[in-house]
Amino acid sequence: GSLRFASFFKAADINIERNTACKPKPDPSTLVFGKQFSDHMLTINWSDKEGWEAPQIKPFQNLSMHPASSALHYSIELFEGMKAFRGTDNHVRLFRPMLNMERMHRSSDRSCLPLFDKAELLGCIKKLVEIDQEWVPYSQDASLYIRPTFIGIEPSLGVSRPGKAMIFVIIGPVGPYFATGSFNPVSLLADPSYVRAWKGGVGAYKMGGNYGPTILVQNEAVKQGCQQVLWLYGEEEEITEVGTMNLFIFWTNEKGEKELLTPPLDGIILPGVTRQSLLDLARTWREFKVTERTMGMKELLGALDAGRIQEMFGAGTACVVCPVGSLLYKGKTYQIPTMENGQDLAKRFYKELTDIQYGRKASEWAPLV
Ligand code: PMP
Repeated sequence: GSLRFASFFKAADINIERNTACKPKPDPSTLVFGKQFSDHMLTINWSDKEGWEAPQIKPFQNLSMHPASSALHYSIELFEGMKAFRGTDNHVRLFRPMLNMERMHRSSDRSCLPLFDKAELLGCIKKLVEIDQEWVPYSQDASLYIRPTFIGIEPSLGVSRPGKAMIFVIIGPVGPYFATGSFNPVSLLADPSYVRAWKGGVGAYKMGGNYGPTILVQNEAVKQGCQQVLWLYGEEEEITEVGTMNLFIFWTNEKGEKELLTPPLDGIILPGVTRQSLLDLARTWREFKVTERTMGMKELLGALDAGRIQEMFGAGTACVVCPVGSLLYKGKTYQIPTMENGQDLAKRFYKELTDIQYGRKASEWAPLV
């Protein structure tokens, strides 16, 4: 109904309640992902009757909600993952944040949650980061993780569009993904009996319900001596994503051309901000072919056998790029020669993106907070 579009909230209307008991900041070398949070949070409430309320920044605190809240029963929940970086010039930058806002807006629409003005939400997030700016690590290895979240809080058990909802944003410092400072390749379990997302489903949206069910599979990978899951799909056992990263292959294709390949956004792939950025960079370089298409396990293993796979890597906000070292598929381990081949492309992408994020290279991709 039209109520879904009524009265967007505005960043200029934010009410701010300052925390008077701010916590000491942790040492960047001790950070564990997702365990430390800053002193403030952002909340924005919506109801069918009132529309959007004014955004609130307040001391970090527990939420109180009705036990029938639809987020808790039917997983009416979605989130984003983005980062703020403290640059060499001490300024704090985001990385292509409107792409996160656009993805969040699409997830909201698919979840029957109310829509919002993307630029206004970004304005609210910037204000939160500004207030807690001392939480952005003074380090070019660490960053501030930003977790926008949107939940249905309709207090009834009917499976229907929630009449009450809340956006909240929490933030916290995170350390480097590669603790040693150099790439560590990951080993992957490729088991076609598990499926992350399917055609007609919601894998292209960042809904919490897509992630909970992956934990058992991740644990199975660890049991089998692997670090992460390579998600396969369909009859052809298409390679889709790695853990919570998009997947890239740099290879010599069947025509003998150098090519960067990643699966297309056909509904089962999360449209990653990092994925888009690597595609955009590679297309401006014009040094090799850049292709979005599916690749099945048979084709991958054939190319591997023929020595035509140069590099395989995951791409996401957590690590930027993460080289793949091996695949365990149907009881056999296949070595992927990413590291042996020098990971030149993965390293180049890593340097290019981190240079932009930490302000070592000026770019419109990294707006100041
Ligand atoms: N795929 C999945 C399933 C993810 O959860 C993520 C993390 N958002 C990504 C890929 C990478 O996306 P991004 O580059 O936006 O972090």
